[in-house]
Amino acid sequence: MELSIVIPAYNEEKNIFLLYSNLSRVLKSLNKSYEIIFVDDGSSDNTLSEIKKLRKNDNKVKIISFSKNFEKACALAAGLKASSGNLIITIDADMQDNPQDIPKMLNKLEEGYDMIVGWKYSRKDPLHKVIASKVFNLLIRRLNKLKIHDCDSNFRVMKRYVVPHLEIYSGMYRYIPIIAHQKGFKIGETKVKHLQRKYGKSKYGISRLPTGLFDLISIKFLMEYNKKPLHFFGGIGSFFLLSGFLSGSYLLYIKFVLNQEIGQRPLLILTILLIFLGTQFVSTGLIGEMITNSTQKKKTSDYVIKESLGIKR
Ligand code: UDP
Ligand code: MG
Repeated sequence: MELSIVIPAYNEEKNIFLLYSNLSRVLKSLNKSYEIIFVDDGSSDNTLSEIKKLRKNDNKVKIISFSKNFEKACALAAGLKASSGNLIITIDADMQDNPQDIPKMLNKLEEGYDMIVGWKYSRKDPLHKVIASKVFNLLIRRLNKLKIHDCDSNFRVMKRYVVPHLEIYSGMYRYIPIIAHQKGFKIGETKVKHLQRKYGKSKYGISRLPTGLFDLISIKFLMEYNKKPLHFFGGIGSFFLLSGFLSGSYLLYIKFVLNQEIGQRPLLILTILLIFLGTQFVSTGLIGEMITNSTQKKKTSDYVIKESLGIKR
């Protein structure tokens, strides 16, 4: 299998056939073997039966159907896991991405990238969404040194070997390019056309702003300190401890050398507080280390092998 298309779909009954026919036209012109994996994310409308209709006439259409709505991250994860193509394309089911951009993205991928993200340079969404996305992407660029304009765009193409290294849970599908970037994959982008949503409605409103921000903080933290929590907590803890040690020494000097009373001094309280906080932070770091250590075995591997020759898997 050369190409897998993964499509998360939640209540998109009117878009399914349209997307399928547009997609098929483009895919046929590529002369590559392909599969189209629809993941019905527990839709309550006729999305599933629409997809089933397609499969009757075209066995390249494959279907995964969830028992209930598990959200886009799960839909994507399930679709990616089931895919078998050397190249994987993810695209929304809402017909806001134009399948005609796929050849352009694939060509760019062949320039030596591991993943290409479709940059919706002129976004056809409500204003609050466009602004939120701009701010979000700016933060991401600042925090991660990844020069991508549209990180949360779900229109992406990637190579097979990237897939097992993506940990997609809850809101984290928006950070796929960051996760891949942190693991050393080369990420590029191409401008793609964004279309107005014609049928159905968007499932995400303003409510994802704060959760998105939390996700961003946690991904930054997980990426940098997951393996060494003590470096983070220990750093802060040492600062407090050192300050406490200095002010404590000063108090001892006053008490025993200058023979003055220190019991009434606010500095005494501060010293106790600093030492207390410092110890707390260091022990939190140590507990973090223990957790990391015991969960490490269950995680996906920490390293990425891009190619291997003469090695049996
Ligand atoms: N989607 C999904 N599960 C959900 C919500 C959305 O699979 O719980 C799909 C949806 O059908 C669409 C894509 O994810 O294909 C993007 O959703 P939407 O267009 O509502 O988000 P927006 O583009 O407005 O951010
Ligand atoms: Mg959309």
